Amino acid sequence: MAYKVDIGIEVHVQLTTKSKIFCTCANETAQKPNTNICQICSGYPGVLPVLNEEVINDAIKAGLATNSEISEISEFSRKHYFYPDLPKGYQITQGNRPTCLNGYVPIKLEDGSTKKIRLIRIHIEEDAGKNIHSSTSNESFVDLNRAGTPLLEIVTHPDISSSYEAKAYLKKLRQIVQYLGICSGNMEEGAFRADTNISIRPIGQETLGTRVELKNINSFKFIGDAIEYEIDRQTSLIESGQRIIQETRLWDTKDKKSISMRSKEEAADYRYFAEPDLPLLKIDTQKIEKIKKELPELPDQKLERLVKEHGLKEADAEILIDDLELGKYYEKAAQFTKSKHLINWILRNLLSYLKSSKETYNETNITPQKLAELVDLLDTGIINNRAAQEIFDAVAKTGKNPKDLVTELGLEQIGSTQEIETIIKEIIVNSPNQVAQYKSGQEKLFGFFVGQAMAKTKGKANPQIINDLLKKYLK
Ligand code: ZN
Ligand code: MN
Repeated sequence: MAYKVDIGIEVHVQLTTKSKIFCTCANETAQKPNTNICQICSGYPGVLPVLNEEVINDAIKAGLATNSEISEISEFSRKHYFYPDLPKGYQITQGNRPTCLNGYVPIKLEDGSTKKIRLIRIHIEEDAGKNIHSSTSNESFVDLNRAGTPLLEIVTHPDISSSYEAKAYLKKLRQIVQYLGICSGNMEEGAFRADTNISIRPIGQETLGTRVELKNINSFKFIGDAIEYEIDRQTSLIESGQRIIQETRLWDTKDKKSISMRSKEEAADYRYFAEPDLPLLKIDTQKIEKIKKELPELPDQKLERLVKEHGLKEADAEILIDDLELGKYYEKAAQFTKSKHLINWILRNLLSYLKSSKETYNETNITPQKLAELVDLLDTGIINNRAAQEIFDAVAKTGKNPKDLVTELGLEQIGSTQEIETIIKEIIVNSPNQVAQYKSGQEKLFGFFVGQAMAKTKGKANPQIINDLLKKYLK
């Protein structure tokens, strides 16, 4: 039997605001445990939360960038559950009235067409602390530094129908929040974490199958692997007449299989109610319009601009937009050269160099300006390809200017037509037989003359000039 796959994804986006969501503690966790806390974020009774305006602005940005409606009035709620890293006994989140509704994120499918992944909502909430389980003793510890970190939770409809689409959606969403400057997008540090709900149903069946949740997988590749595995697992359960249990499963990256964490036969009752310590959140149109005007360029717009204005191939432009720093590097370099070869030097030479040297775009000696200079030297025929590679390596090592290195390393291409002309005349005089054969129609011999010319100029001549001159004198 054939099955349809339905996947919905919830992403928690950790915001990079200066302070936490309801108190003035710095929004950073890389410190000694329980040193970045106050009475509010560690949940003392009787304290009052004060909403950080930066969080509202970030939520509006995310909403606008995902084609969402921004609610004129939204509400905060208490979601009750017990866990040691949540001393209040409830999380402040948004229940029935979230800040953003009904958005969508367009993704590109394998066949080049576009599909809209619809968003149910984007809501604002606080993060909890962290439980740390000792690996050497039978103890656990609670670190509340992360408590009160602002999050956006972005929830899709079950519109995603393959691991490819899931990855495309997550990549696009991560690009968007990174371009907006509201999240680092760092998955390993948990700044962008996805929970994936997967179910399958026989084609033709209206109602969705029982879903299984895959939690906290921290790379696109693992998410893709886990989805593939889960589709296979659910298919063989159904085919063998068993039923699927609604549960949360974890992905074991070592054994490449999902394992059951807890079953969720009944929906947990969190006893949501409106947070009495926070007023309704009113957002006026003026504020939305102001933020809309200030929105930075988003990945789709940038892709279009790079293709249209820079004449890049779409596949190349996609590599650039996927890495904000790489994109900036390219655009900086493109200010200094109009050469079509720039993109190749960045995607091929620069990227492989940075991979092996483990330098960042800011650390490397190969600045955008120097790479542009190198590409121009090559384009104008001052150096040839082989010399360009040598200079590239020398810039990386020394940080010197490509122009200075041309002289220093004696790599200047013999570009003067006169000099090459003398050499070519000499070759022709010295090879009467070949000239006669060539003129009688053996055109293959042209290569012989090119070879001679290259050898006599030690590879430093401009091949185009050699070609032109040979054609002229062999006529
Ligand atoms: Zn605090
Ligand atoms: Mn949540």
